[in-house]
Amino acid sequence: MVAAHAAEWARRRPTVERVELGKAAGRVLAKPICADRDQPPFARSTRDGFACRAADVSTHGFLPIVGSTRAGLAPAGPVPPGSAWEIMTGAPVPAGADAVVMIEHVEVLEGRIRLLPSRKISSGENIVPQGAQARKGDVLIPVGTAITFAQIALAATCGCAALDVFARPRVAILTTGDELVSVDSDPAPGQIRNSNAPMLAAMVAAAGGEPWVLPTAADDAQALDKSLAEAAQADMLLISGGVSAGKFDLVEPALARLGAKFHFTGVRIQPGKPLVFGELPGGKGRIVPLFGLPGNPVSSAVTFLLFAAPVLGALAGRLEGTPRFALASLAADSDKHGKPGLTRFLPASCTFGGAENELPEVALVAWQGSGDLAALARSNCFLVIPEDAHRLQAGEIVRILLP
Ligand code: AMP
Ligand code: MG
Repeated sequence: MVAAHAAEWARRRPTVERVELGKAAGRVLAKPICADRDQPPFARSTRDGFACRAADVSTHGFLPIVGSTRAGLAPAGPVPPGSAWEIMTGAPVPAGADAVVMIEHVEVLEGRIRLLPSRKISSGENIVPQGAQARKGDVLIPVGTAITFAQIALAATCGCAALDVFARPRVAILTTGDELVSVDSDPAPGQIRNSNAPMLAAMVAAAGGEPWVLPTAADDAQALDKSLAEAAQADMLLISGGVSAGKFDLVEPALARLGAKFHFTGVRIQPGKPLVFGELPGGKGRIVPLFGLPGNPVSSAVTFLLFAAPVLGALAGRLEGTPRFALASLAADSDKHGKPGLTRFLPASCTFGGAENELPEVALVAWQGSGDLAALARSNCFLVIPEDAHRLQAGEIVRILLP
């Protein structure tokens, strides 16, 4: 359902801006990056050693060293038949050679080399042919790619000192609740600090948006109408709290007064069941996708990752989708099945980088329910407990949701 909407938002491409390469990490590419020359631009040695004909050196007889090329020098040669050419890693392989023998695999004696009797070499070994990685003009990074260190390196190789990226969608974050005070306040009895605003701002930034945190709205129809009308100027709207069935959960009626269209008003998951997804008219024909996230912090986090992040990613022009799931092996028996019919997403800690050929191991963290931020901070993923699971056993392969 959300995926279908995400595709729709993706078609409304955001505007394009230019950023320096050094500031492009985390942005989304708006124009493809093409190879400005072959990669590698010349047949490249991957080893320090000797360029030669594989057939010549395979006789294990001595070959005279007739030249030398180090990295940075222009392609040289040719290597005459029956001879060897000293070469360094990254240097262009001289014409005539079809292999590079590693320095460790030869005996060097008085300007000559000989392949050690225990060693073999075949044509092409330790050489990356010109253009093997990419041909001049090839599209190397398509539009919609989220830029990480790898794309930055490739763009640099192609001579791109600045990149065309999509402007980040501006995401309004409106927290609601009479109990909330700001992070720099001392809460009075019954009050709590607003942790969802900074949490969601961080999640929005990570998902490719530009967070716009609005002042908290009171649980009051007028206050909500005013705040929501302002928030509708954004490209996307996240509302925290006020979507449950309580007496002071006034968000849905307020959205309806502003002309919101609701796609759904509840999901079969726990935590996060009261999630609302819809859209608001933003003026001038604009449509603003909106999520009403349940206020409990773990509910907000889970529903953001599962539902809001994919829509935001699409709005940001990202090609690859979220949420990200993986498989892991369960560390201990669990009987944490929830209410029938609800898939659970419980804070869990996964040990990555374990033994070779073994799945990462995941364990639930102890928690006191969806307000437990200390548990959330001890977790690095969410264990997915299928709605029909009654008991999960240690060693079972389970799904995890990655942040
Ligand atoms: P609600 O979804 O509005 O019913 O909120 C449920 C509970 O989540 C509240 O009683 C608070 O304890 C908590 N909560 C709501 N909003 C926030 C927030 N912005 N930061 C931290 N906790 C919140
Ligand atoms: Mg509330």
